[in-house]
Parts: sequence; C-alpha cells; structure tokens
Amino acid sequence: MAETLNAYLSLGANLGNREETLREAVRRLAKHEDMKILAVSSLYETEPWGKTDQPRFLNLTVSLQTRLSPESLLAVVQALETELGRVRHEHWGPRIIDIDILHIEGVERNTSELTLPHPYMTERAFVLIPLEEIASKLVVKGRTVAEWRDAAGDEGIKRVAGWKY
Ligand code: ADP
Ligand code: MG
Repeated sequence: MAETLNAYLSLGANLGNREETLREAVRRLAKHEDMKILAVSSLYETEPWGKTDQPRFLNLTVSLQTRLSPESLLAVVQALETELGRVRHEHWGPRIIDIDILHIEGVERNTSELTLPHPYMTERAFVLIPLEEIASKLVVKGRTVAEWRDAAGDEGIKRVAGWKY
C-alpha cells in the first residue's frame, strides 16, 4: 500500500458474546480493502475502568497499515461498532464493542471528533499490556509503550489462554 499510516487500535467489549464480537471485529478490519493488519495481541480480561459497577471487559490491541486518513479510519471503526450492535449510552458505561484509535505514527489531532494520541492510553494498563505485546518500542508522548506499561502496573488484568481470532 503506497502512502500508508501505521495505526494502533484498542478493542474492548463487556456485553453479549464478548469473544465472538471481538473476533468478528478483527476479521472485518482484516477484510477491509484499505487496511492491512500487522499484528493482533492476546486477549485480556480486565476489571471495568472509570465506572466499576458493570461486567468485566475483554480487551485487545491491533496494529495496522492503512491508506485511509485518520478521520476516515475513525469513521470506519465507528461504522463497525454500529454494525456489531453498539448502542451509545453513557460515557464509560457497558458496551458490546468499543474501538478506539490509540495512536497513528506521525499524527497528532485535537479536534472534537478525534484526539491523537488517545488521551488516556498512557495510563490505562488494559490498553498498555496488550499494546506492549505488539509494539513495546513504539514511542508515544516521549516514552516507549514498555515504559508507560511499567508505570501503569498490571493489576486486575489476566491474559485469556488459547484465544484465537
Ligand atoms: P469512550 O471510548 O471514551 O468510552 P466513545 O467510544 O463513546 O467513548 O467515543 C466518544 C467519542 O470519542 C467519539 O464520538 C469520537 O469522536 C471521540 N474520539 C476522540 N478521540 C478518539 C480516538 N482517538 N479514538 C476513538 N474515538 C475518539
Ligand atoms: Mg470509544
């Protein structure tokens, strides 16, 4: 793919058949003609963040190459959320699927639709642990993912053995 960007996504689910929804999300990203998946992390089960009285999440990260613009990539992942049955309720509340763009190499954004790097990615262990698996040396906001992950710890996060997308 000419003129491509390297992007890192975080996928999470805590309602419905979480594993199957995440598997389907990765498959659909992989099928998209303007993207090439580079790596998919293991799956992790994590305690809910922000709003804690809700079911546990499953989380994973994906790296991909794309010729889409950052804004078009956001539109694609939001359409995919809707296709997979996401209904938007409260912020940080339970959801069938959440797909966030964590980082796109060489890109910064600060608009109402898109903040890049994602503002919380450097403090959330449920993002950093799966991201470290596929991009430990990636530098975001002046530190590597491995360094951010060391600072964030790993409390309440368990790798799900044997998961395949
Ligand atoms: P959250 O992911 O914070 O729980 P939502 O998934 O409902 O909440 O997203 C809320 C809004 O966040 C979206 O409408 C989108 O425009 C905005 N947004 C800003 N930056 C990003 C990003 N890096 N990745 C995904 N969405 C983002
Ligand atoms: Mg989101």
